[in-house]
Amino acid sequence: MIRLEQINKTYYAGAPLHVLKGIDLEIGRGEMVAIMGASGSGKSTLLNILGLLDNYDTGKYYLNGMLISRLSERKAAGLRNRMIGFIFQSFNLLGFKNALENVALPLYYQGVRRRKRNQIALEYLDRLGLKDWAHHMPNELSGGQKQRVAIARALIAKPNVILADEPTGALDSKTSEEVMHILREVNNNGMTMVIVTHEQSVADATDKIIRLKDGLIDYISRTGYVQMSDIFGIDSNT
Ligand code: ADP
Ligand code: MG
Repeated sequence: MIRLEQINKTYYAGAPLHVLKGIDLEIGRGEMVAIMGASGSGKSTLLNILGLLDNYDTGKYYLNGMLISRLSERKAAGLRNRMIGFIFQSFNLLGFKNALENVALPLYYQGVRRRKRNQIALEYLDRLGLKDWAHHMPNELSGGQKQRVAIARALIAKPNVILADEPTGALDSKTSEEVMHILREVNNNGMTMVIVTHEQSVADATDKIIRLKDGLIDYISRTGYVQMSDIFGIDSNT
């Protein structure tokens, strides 16, 4: 699903800062991986490149087999809308729109008519246990509820991959666990996921941990996480 070959990125705000120094990485369809590393090691930079929010300088990035290089902002926005779902630490909900409207937003950008997009958004809210909260504003929701709204919004456009930057960073540990449980369920339905986190318990709930150090991959380790389907040899969706 994602292939990076020798990705380099330097920021030129003042003295040049070589943040990514040749990243090689492959993330398969349906994989759920964590990216860890000290603050400033380039995690967000890498995630922004994966999410077509920023360009890289040299190397190659293939997303779903497509070479991503030097996209115009318009082209990038179109691809983002179709292929990528984002989840942020700070939820990034629009404060003047209710839960339903927030979830429906990606469909608005796709030109889906209001009646239709609200109907689909309600289905997604229902799936995340928030049907009764559809008409509440973000400031009336708890942190965990806000993140569930954000997850519904990330899912509604049926992206190829979900990228999450510290999705549990603003949540208490019990709520973090609930959110990870939801993300795990989404992954069990086949969604590829990349989660930046500094919390070991969050990383341990993924399949694989990629550790960045000084702009390079330090090491990749598999977690002990086992899916029910691996134990019983059945598809967990059936
Ligand atoms: P992490 O997410 O691992 O904490 P980042 O990818 O956010 O690290 O940042 C890596 C380094 O690049 C940091 O030293 C940061 O200050 C710098 N940096 C990040 N974004 C920019 C930017 N837009 N312009 C200049 N420097 C940046
Ligand atoms: Mg960061």
